[in-house]
Amino acid sequence: MTEYNLAYLLDGKVYINLTNSCTNNCVFCIRNIKEDVVGTNLFLNSENVKAQDVIAQLEEIKDKLSSEIVFCGYGEPMLKLDVMKEVAAYIKKNYPHIKLRVNTNGHANLVYKRNVLPELKGLIDKFSVSLNGENEEVYNKISLPNIEGAYDAVKDFIKEAVKEGFDTTATIVTNYKDYNVDMPKCIEITKNLGAKFRERPWIENGY
Ligand code: SF4
Repeated sequence: MTEYNLAYLLDGKVYINLTNSCTNNCVFCIRNIKEDVVGTNLFLNSENVKAQDVIAQLEEIKDKLSSEIVFCGYGEPMLKLDVMKEVAAYIKKNYPHIKLRVNTNGHANLVYKRNVLPELKGLIDKFSVSLNGENEEVYNKISLPNIEGAYDAVKDFIKEAVKEGFDTTATIVTNYKDYNVDMPKCIEITKNLGAKFRERPWIENGY
């Protein structure tokens, strides 16, 4: 039986949870802290998520759909690129007024060893990318990536997403324990990459 946690509601918005895998293991990741986001257990029974199951769950809550759907769960959604593309194509075809955002760690092009962004044109509208720090040392301390070259890959991803015309925002989590980032420097890096910038204050109870 499929668990109803592939599409979930948070603050009146529908989110899509495609995987529990990630190429980071961020110190503040709520996967390590709790099982649920506002009551929905986001741990999946299986990593073999199928687009048709996601779509079926979306349809179950279609009366809750608003102007935006976000790919974001307990893991890195772009690790399920093909499923994401299939689900996004379905939404764009059936609900063309809905904007699609991906909250990502920005590792996709490094993972797939190719620029996947052109494949997402017309499917995804916005990217929110975790910059997480002003240099590799800070990034690695906070994000604990399990692949080499992650920080540079994140910056390249942001730059490329801007170049490809996606609405792109770099994010920094603030207020998590004594992990400090140099905010002015992060803002400057983001500006140089051409993206928008957003601070995401860490919230104990969820995203
Ligand atoms: S990138 Fe997101 S899902 Fe991955 S470890 Fe960090 S907070 Fe968790």
